[in-house]
Amino acid sequence: MTLLAVAGLTKRFGGIVANRDISFEVRPGELVGVIGPNGAGKSTLFDLITGVTRPDDGRVTLDGRDITALRPDQISRLGVARTFQKLRPFHQMTALENVMIGALQSTADVGAARRAAEEALASVGLAERAHAHARALSTGQRKRLELARALATRPRLLLLDEVTGGVDQGAIPGLIRLVRDLHARGPALVVIEHNMQVIMELAQRIVALQLGEVIADGQPAEILRHPRVIDAYLGESWRPA
Ligand code: ADP
Ligand code: MG
Repeated sequence: MTLLAVAGLTKRFGGIVANRDISFEVRPGELVGVIGPNGAGKSTLFDLITGVTRPDDGRVTLDGRDITALRPDQISRLGVARTFQKLRPFHQMTALENVMIGALQSTADVGAARRAAEEALASVGLAERAHAHARALSTGQRKRLELARALATRPRLLLLDEVTGGVDQGAIPGLIRLVRDLHARGPALVVIEHNMQVIMELAQRIVALQLGEVIADGQPAEILRHPRVIDAYLGESWRPA
């Protein structure tokens, strides 16, 4: 009952060890949160899982199959999608065209890609903005566009990198509801998130990273009381009296 397993993942950039011996598993349909300070290695971990960069050591398996050496498009076709922390839509293209490019990662059929893109835009509440240029969208709408791009490949495993980062407070409850709705349709989610309220509302389990290493992996309530997580990330105000 393991969908994703990472085992001993290590990635160095020059003298920096961005990921050091990271291991954890995600079960089908699970919603796992990933927390940790800036520079802890969270985005690098997603890059390694999705084939954007190769690890120096360790393995990534999906349904028991080793995908460590596969290209991003091959991993996408196996049902793994991710959003990027730094949004980079094609500004001159419409929302629909941007999402179709995502869909074309997993199919070569343009008609099918268009239908998948329309469906994905509708599922994030952007159906009415399908023909707007990406540059005309608000930050919150661009986050939704980025989600639609990932969803258009119909993933079994969806990795979200700071979906609520940089959006107005007022847009956050809608994004939480959206992530919950997407999860209810079946895919497993791994969610990198800084907003602790968001993570507590969403995550069934939390993996905490610091300086490239897993310092805790457990139920949200345990993680909130974990001394190393309090030291590294949450701060003294979270320490139980
Ligand atoms: P997080 O997402 O947790 O903030 P990152 O995974 O982006 O952390 O970065 C982890 C560490 O690896 C940081 O020290 C960062 O500067 C470094 N790093 C990430 N990507 C690269 C890269 N392409 N080249 C060099 N260093 C990188
Ligand atoms: Mg990051």
